[in-house]
Amino acid sequence: MEKNEKTSTPVEARAPRPAPAAYTVLSRKRLTPNMLRITLGGTAMAKLAPDCEGGYFKLRFPDGGEGKAPVRSYTIRHQRPDSVDVDFVVHGEGGHAGPAVEWASVAAPGDEIEAGGPGPAKRLPEGMDRYLIAGDMTALPAIAVNLERLPADARGIAVIEVQTEDDIQPIAHPDGIDLRWLLNPHPGTRPDLLAEALREAVGASAAGGSGKIYGWAASEFASMQALRTYLRDECGLDRDHLYVSSYWKYGADDDGHRAAKQADAALAG
Ligand SMILES: Cc1cc2nc3c(=O)[nH]c(=O)nc-3n(C[C@H](O)[C@H](O)[C@H](O)COP(=O)(O)OP(=O)(O)OC[C@H]3O[C@@H](n4cnc5c(N)ncnc54)[C@H](O)[C@@H]3O)c2cc1C
Repeated sequence: MEKNEKTSTPVEARAPRPAPAAYTVLSRKRLTPNMLRITLGGTAMAKLAPDCEGGYFKLRFPDGGEGKAPVRSYTIRHQRPDSVDVDFVVHGEGGHAGPAVEWASVAAPGDEIEAGGPGPAKRLPEGMDRYLIAGDMTALPAIAVNLERLPADARGIAVIEVQTEDDIQPIAHPDGIDLRWLLNPHPGTRPDLLAEALREAVGASAAGGSGKIYGWAASEFASMQALRTYLRDECGLDRDHLYVSSYWKYGADDDGHRAAKQADAALAG
């Protein structure tokens, strides 16, 4: 299970986890300038539990001759009986991208990829007075799944950081959720952006931060830390009302990211 950064156990889909399975690429398309959608299907779909949307695969990418297959986490954005969509943020184009994006950029129908999991979706619990949600483009798929599933009378604020205006996606959400988009052409370079935007939106809202509040945040490591400080320390959200997760780390590959998360967890207690 993906480590929940010193927070509560969120409401999770209770899907059983199948053994790693080989999925077949059905299609690849550019969803927005910096997001690729890979649709996966094949015989593995028969073993995938229903309602895994928002959960995450542990995808195993080609090892490039180094012997150990690199594994990266990717969210299931949509699930149909015979296929799933996985949306990849494109980064490092023209330079070092990383095995996940290198694979996704050239994936073609018929290619196979092994997927472990899926790990459980980190769902927003029902019955809260307000939801405070924040994330960057890597969390956009998980946030979209969550927003789409909120009851129609849900209220709150969601801030999502994307690279360009054309990366903004239509996401179905309740009228009472104030959905705000932030632009940052250089992901990872402005770790305070999301937390500042959320703080400002809460300050400007009539209800402010009152009532039963649930906070949900996932983003780059330093950005996650800033969001955690805001939601936990300033808003006073306890473990039962907060999910915060680091999805990647600026300047670090997966090993570096994992090490930073371990050190952070030890410090944060
Ligand atoms: C539970 C979970 C769910 C996730 N879901 C998604 C998802 O649905 N879609 C998605 O795109 N990502 C998602 N991520 C994040 C994704 O796993 C990481 O971005 C991953 O590091 C990408 O792997 P890579 O092989 O391309 O790059 P890596 O080899 O891990 O890193 C290589 C270099 O690229 C940089 N880098 C990595 N990711 C980004 C980025 N997004 N923007 C800019 N630079 C980056 C690193 O800092 C490093 O310098 C999720 C992560 C978690 C933990």
